[in-house]
Amino acid sequence: MTTATHLESWVPVGFGSDFPIQNLPYGVFADAEGERCGVAIGEVIVDLARAEAAGLFTSTGLRHGTFRQNSLNTFLGHSRGVWSAVRGRVTEMLTAGNEQGIAFARAHNVMIDHPVRLRLPVTIGDYVDFYSSQQHAINVGRMFRPDGDPLLPNWKRLPVGYHGRAGTIIPSGTPIKRPHGQMRGPTGPLFGASEKLDIELEVGFITGAGPQLGTPIPVDEAEHHIFGMCLVNDWSARDIQAWEYVPLGPFLGKSFATSISPWIVPLEALEPFRVSGTAQDPVPLPYLQEQKRQGVAIDLTVDLSPVGSPPTTIIATSFTNMYWTMAQQLAHATINGATTRPGDLYASGTVSGPTPDQFGSLLEQSWNGTRDLTLSDGSTRTYLEDGDTIRISARCDIEGAVPIGFGECKGTVAG
Ligand code: CA
Repeated sequence: MTTATHLESWVPVGFGSDFPIQNLPYGVFADAEGERCGVAIGEVIVDLARAEAAGLFTSTGLRHGTFRQNSLNTFLGHSRGVWSAVRGRVTEMLTAGNEQGIAFARAHNVMIDHPVRLRLPVTIGDYVDFYSSQQHAINVGRMFRPDGDPLLPNWKRLPVGYHGRAGTIIPSGTPIKRPHGQMRGPTGPLFGASEKLDIELEVGFITGAGPQLGTPIPVDEAEHHIFGMCLVNDWSARDIQAWEYVPLGPFLGKSFATSISPWIVPLEALEPFRVSGTAQDPVPLPYLQEQKRQGVAIDLTVDLSPVGSPPTTIIATSFTNMYWTMAQQLAHATINGATTRPGDLYASGTVSGPTPDQFGSLLEQSWNGTRDLTLSDGSTRTYLEDGDTIRISARCDIEGAVPIGFGECKGTVAG
């Protein structure tokens, strides 16, 4: 359900809030009563477990006890129809002027406005990381293969990706320990702490249930299996990565930590921000050809704050830059018959735009450590230093729609 632009809530929502009634992202929070699922609106959380127990979702098809859990996975395992019906009930309860909704929320203590801890929203079974920004792929190609074509022959034929480590996906705010590992030295391998700790600005999507093993998801049905989107920081140790990646690709240079934002924005909330996908030349193989090719207009920002210093915006770019759509990524990931399950995460790959201020990693911003970035406190960076805090935020804001946001995905290098 796309929520009408004119709709307002009886819950106070500040101007410019990421979470007006048109958004209603899902997450998992914890307080003295335990962990449960919730929806964010303004500065408060709708306690879905209490709302469910009080009967808000009767006749929606929701299975009993879905929201009194420490992950959204059970909810994600429901059909799109149930996702939509639940969103409809929450929207209705929160709509301004709905006296019954206000009375229900008060009677059952559904609105949580005391401090809570936000958890990882999903128990992630499988994690795929794509490489779907053409500018990012070109930048990396130019740096590491200066004499060849920056794009490898497969890049425009399929959404290149790899399977990452689901067990080290961590919620926003978790400190990042600088990884140790093997790296290339002048006369042989060295071992030590990474000196090229980097970020990758990405956006991910979370799936619901998929078909059984051996059954690909057709590209035009792929979005039926996508629940929503979140922000992703694919922390990367470039020196470990550079030495280990041949011939099987990323391994320990990536698997030490991947941060995601705590709120999953439903695809339904993103409907007003869907835009035509980038033109593709050459036309991909039939299984990747879409009837209706759509990206999402998401403005992405990355701030870097050294210890004790104010933030400097180091990256500002747009998700519209992506060459491959989410539907193509999911169709490709399942074309061999591989399954997707509720709570799987598919990350976009580094989102880079055409100008240097839009490059989505420090690798590109510093051109592999050859150019300094100057921060607002006068200090310089090529890669991250201990104590640096990275904050990714994102907004959708186009004419005629109420703007929404993704909250934040944050992490501090703990050394
Ligand atoms: Ca990545």
